[in-house]
Amino acid sequence: MRRVIRSRTTKSANETRRFAACLARRLRAGDVVLLHGDLGAGKTTFVQGLAAGLGVRTPVTSPTFTLIHEYAAGGVDLFHFDPYRLAGTGDIADLGFEDYLARGGIIVVEWGERLGEFTPPERLDVHIEVGEAETRSITLTPVGAR
Ligand code: ADP
Ligand code: MG
Repeated sequence: MRRVIRSRTTKSANETRRFAACLARRLRAGDVVLLHGDLGAGKTTFVQGLAAGLGVRTPVTSPTFTLIHEYAAGGVDLFHFDPYRLAGTGDIADLGFEDYLARGGIIVVEWGERLGEFTPPERLDVHIEVGEAETRSITLTPVGAR
């Protein structure tokens, strides 16, 4: 099953954050969100909005070098992955991605396509495309039954 549930064009980083914050209210423990888009598309910006919507108060930064950031968000954990610097899916196994899945928090992954064989069958795919000036076209596609 593949259907776009929502498509939206934002005109600023803050608008992207607000859109993500609205989405956050519909997420629940165990959900996986995979972000797709080029460098600078706005993936980390989107995670900032998600985190804010979940009630995370600490600032959200890119885990490009540390690969994973964990946030506690009012009763649910948010795990923010950025496998940009990983060479292959073997490294993703080393990160313990499946252990994080088992912990039942909300998982959000930048460069989601890099999960390869670890891609969960149930997920929300978010594609961000850069448009003119500060516009970004954001498409949400749920995959799986949920
Ligand atoms: P990524 O994580 O995809 O590499 P970032 O979120 O780190 O991208 O960076 C996106 C950059 O684009 C930020 O500097 C942000 O301010 C800027 N930007 C401009 N317009 C938008 C928009 N509509 N949505 C998101 N980011 C935007
Ligand atoms: Mg990023």
